[in-house]
Amino acid sequence: MAVPRNRHSNARKNTKRAHHAKKPKHLSSCSNCREAKPSHVMCPHCGWYAGRQVMAAKD
Ligand SMILES: [Zn+2]
Repeated sequence: MAVPRNRHSNARKNTKRAHHAKKPKHLSSCSNCREAKPSHVMCPHCGWYAGRQVMAAKD
């Protein structure tokens, strides 16, 4: 296993971790009810997926 020769400074560590922030989720709109939902996922509001009802609506 590789062993580090020199210790990285706090600045170098923090610069590396500056890119580790979590990005916000990209949401698309449901083709049936226009509610925001993640793509490739059944609509949690109306139960539609791929243009048809796959689950009973919540309300
Ligand atoms: Zn929907």
